[in-house]
Amino acid sequence: MDAVERAAALREYAEETASCTRCALAEGRTQVVFGSGSADADLMFVGEAPGFHEDQQGVPFVGQAGKLLDRLLEGIGLTRGDVFVVNVLKCRPPGNRDPLPEEIAACEPHLFRQIELIDPKLVATLGNFATKLLSGRPQGITRVHGHEQEVTLGSRTVSLYPIYHPAAALYTPSMLKVLEEDFARIPGLLERALVEPAVEEAPLAAEPEPEPEPVQLGLFDA
Ligand code: URA
Repeated sequence: MDAVERAAALREYAEETASCTRCALAEGRTQVVFGSGSADADLMFVGEAPGFHEDQQGVPFVGQAGKLLDRLLEGIGLTRGDVFVVNVLKCRPPGNRDPLPEEIAACEPHLFRQIELIDPKLVATLGNFATKLLSGRPQGITRVHGHEQEVTLGSRTVSLYPIYHPAAALYTPSMLKVLEEDFARIPGLLERALVEPAVEEAPLAAEPEPEPEPVQLGLFDA
């Protein structure tokens, strides 16, 4: 698929998804937050779920966590127009509570279809929910952040790169530092993923749990 076909297919899927009733979150949402960025992006970010502002505006990561994401992207020479940003859940959970397993299961086909259509080379998962879902493993973000791993998603192999959720780093300077360090590796990983799509799995660091609880805060171009 070329870039124009990809954007058209994604737009069509967004229109289809706008009336989704696969789970009960459909009842309380203002709108489905499909995702935003370039349909032809090599780098995709997967967050958790829309928050108040995202639900109102229909765009992911527009609140405080989104502003931090924008700053981090700027730090590696990228803008939101260079990447595609989505969430595990496309609809806001009431009171910004954690996603429920049945909501994740109901929404999963949308995420997988987005990945199939965009065909990114590197998928950065932000926080626990996206990381556990796409890695298919129970290890939390404290243990696996900064360690790229090769995963098979549908019919394709992509490089998965778990990092802390920006909302969790907003008020914790030590976590922000780690997030910035992990972010700084993205250009190199992207370059590598473009040259050789499959990467060796990086060894895990011996880091202790407990996990930080990601704070829930929380259209696209051709
Ligand atoms: N947090 C998320 O995980 N996603 C958003 O879109 C906003 C905040």
